[in-house]
Amino acid sequence: MQKLILVLIVVFGSFPLTTAQTISSPSDFLGYEIGTQFSRNHQVIDYFKTVEKQVPNQVKLETYGKTNERRGLYLAYISSEENIKNLETIRENNLKNIGLLDGESSADDIAIVWLSYNVHGNEASSSEAAMLTLFKLLTEKQEWLKNTVVIIDPSMNPDGRDRYINWYNETASQPYDIDRQASEHNEPWPGGRPNHYLFDLNRDWVWASQVETQQRLEVYNKWMPHVHVDFHEQGINEPYYFAPAAEPFHEVITDWQRDFQTEIGKNHAKYFDAEGWLFFTRERFDLFYPSYGDTYPTFMGAMGMTYEQGGHGMAGLGIFNDEGHVLTLVERLTHHTTSGLSTVEMASKNAKQLNTEFAKFFDNSNLKYKSYVLKGNEDKLNSLKTLLNKHHITFENATASKVSGMNYATGKQGSLNIDSRALVVHANQPKGKMVKALFEPNAKLSDSLTYDITAWSLPYAYGLEAMASTTKIPSEELLSKKELQTLTDTYGYVSKWNSMDDAQFLAALLKHNFKVRFTEKPFTSNNNKFERGSLIITKGDNKHIKNFLETLNTIAQEQAQHLTQINSGFSQTTPDIGSPDIKLVNNQKVAVLSGEGTSSLSYGEVWHFFEQQLHYPLTSINTDDFGSINLDKYHVLILPNGNYRKVFTEDNMTKLKDWVRAGGKVIAIDGALRSFAGKDNFSLNYKKQEDDVKKKDNLTAYADREREYSNNLITGAIFNAKVDNTHPMAFGYDDNYFTLKLGSTAYSLLDSGYNVAYLNNTKVYSGFAGQNALKSLDQTLVFGEEHMGNGSFIYMVDNTLFRSFWENGKLFLVNSIFMVNNNAYEL
Ligand SMILES: [Zn+2]
Repeated sequence: MQKLILVLIVVFGSFPLTTAQTISSPSDFLGYEIGTQFSRNHQVIDYFKTVEKQVPNQVKLETYGKTNERRGLYLAYISSEENIKNLETIRENNLKNIGLLDGESSADDIAIVWLSYNVHGNEASSSEAAMLTLFKLLTEKQEWLKNTVVIIDPSMNPDGRDRYINWYNETASQPYDIDRQASEHNEPWPGGRPNHYLFDLNRDWVWASQVETQQRLEVYNKWMPHVHVDFHEQGINEPYYFAPAAEPFHEVITDWQRDFQTEIGKNHAKYFDAEGWLFFTRERFDLFYPSYGDTYPTFMGAMGMTYEQGGHGMAGLGIFNDEGHVLTLVERLTHHTTSGLSTVEMASKNAKQLNTEFAKFFDNSNLKYKSYVLKGNEDKLNSLKTLLNKHHITFENATASKVSGMNYATGKQGSLNIDSRALVVHANQPKGKMVKALFEPNAKLSDSLTYDITAWSLPYAYGLEAMASTTKIPSEELLSKKELQTLTDTYGYVSKWNSMDDAQFLAALLKHNFKVRFTEKPFTSNNNKFERGSLIITKGDNKHIKNFLETLNTIAQEQAQHLTQINSGFSQTTPDIGSPDIKLVNNQKVAVLSGEGTSSLSYGEVWHFFEQQLHYPLTSINTDDFGSINLDKYHVLILPNGNYRKVFTEDNMTKLKDWVRAGGKVIAIDGALRSFAGKDNFSLNYKKQEDDVKKKDNLTAYADREREYSNNLITGAIFNAKVDNTHPMAFGYDDNYFTLKLGSTAYSLLDSGYNVAYLNNTKVYSGFAGQNALKSLDQTLVFGEEHMGNGSFIYMVDNTLFRSFWENGKLFLVNSIFMVNNNAYEL
């Protein structure tokens, strides 16, 4: 039978087919009943291509980019023949309706619904559902397409999907085994959920650190759909979840968005009730953190929703769950198809109202803060501008010389002197509610129980001075870009050291074999004062570089790096360039642990940081191999967040310590610190919560258990740490630093070692921190260094690479690699 179907496809595929009856069903196309096998990513895309060929008047498929592993990213536009013909006009009309494009919008009241599938690669039922949804829209729901453009992203994370499916296909038995202990239900590290760099793409919408997100946002912001659904899966014992979402809702969410979610949910319920399928609403999945596939669209005016089917990477084609039910892929994809179609139905039936209410969302004249003003390091301002550009958020330069308002540095009212370099972001612009969500100092939390971090305010994340002003600050369009400098022949060249741009410049020099020095003390030369960490490139050090000046010029220009020329090694104020306080940067060989025991997210952050941000080589070593590898090949070993109990056996711990004593450097991030806290030879120790706090927990009523527990939590909150910026780990920083704390585990200050950054207060600048958790936080470590023999253990209690968005923390890691305990030696 399968062969016959394939033959028919081949035969009929060569004729133009235009009627609904001749559209291949997914099962016909795939050669198996949909849901009885997992379809590889290319099969999903090929099905969409086939349907486009069959009904070109109603389906338009476009590629919007590709992944790290070079798989294509696609969007399908599905609508009536008339609408597909006028697609560009419909898109422009929509933008005109909300002020993102000049001109009068001719009200055509067409609903734009965007359905996103499989952002988590191992939540694999959804791309199957995408195929069936496409088929059903065209064959059964033509009526809705008359006034609705449906945009389908069938596979947002193809690298993750194929990682899962390739593993499943090579692992599963035939027929599939419903015993959950079977290997086909237990994915190996890192699992198929994340993308190539092991990022969670459903936490990346705002930060856009990943290519999938970056390319998607370009199209998303060109379209600005009215409804956006992100299809997911949850644990195998959960039923189905759909809107309305749980509290907390961010304040930018309008009453209409709340109400219409409920209407959509009720429509789904009608279909689910008819089949007797279980579901829940208004619990667990909130709308607060802005970087999700539901909140991002919501803060951009859409009905942004998450739908969750029970299943996930564990479910395979079928699994026996705790409720005595065999959950199958067929069932999972059927539910997702039903909720998807019900969403399109609701959009179509309410198209006019969707357009009207969508337009109202973009009136931002009544927001409390009218302007956010930021000043500081030019590189940091530039990287903030790059982020704003990704969301088509506009900004200008200040024309005022002083602003007053809420001062981010103090958390109080105050004023700030500025000049024309200060950046002004106005709230009264079409993307104003997103501006508010990203900039405001402290988002209002209607409920402390949330699914994610509660603080992300951009001025803190980018290390900029900032004011939030309730009056509009005068501004004008931005000044043109800085001019590139041409270096001339002299003794040496000095670069500042404050930002990731400076770090990239150093990495580029090392890659080209330059010898670079850095200063551990401030010095003055040619009437310029250079701070700690400044890089020095002398002609004398670099005689081995052919065309030294030309090469340096090229690198500096490529990186848009400004260098100050010095004409002598004799400084006006010491140290001189030849001083022992000015050291050679070693060309560090860096390794990182990956695999079982490490957090795949944290490992991925390190991997992505080296490859895509710093552009510096990194060797990844599997934890399974730790016992047998030769550590002497590396200067630095990074331990991402993780649980290393099984990795650091007694033998392996001895091996690690011996390597450090001989001069090696360990950089331990977040949970990796647990491997050393309270252990022999280490001065790192936990700071425990008080006993009376614990006792109180025992009196908690059962119904209050979750809420009471949240008193012990910190769910991503911003604190101000004291910094010893004379320590090389803090070169380039001020004497205080806003840190994002992701959990309540606290470590005492080091007795022997350097407390490079630590909390000497427990003021919460933004986000949620439970009362109990706060009690033990005063006088605790944020970053520190402990010597052992010739080497060091460097502790990063707070993970500065978390989701790659805390821009201002990244230099601490770079300093740890290149400047801390800098034993320049050849391996
Ligand atoms: Zn998910």
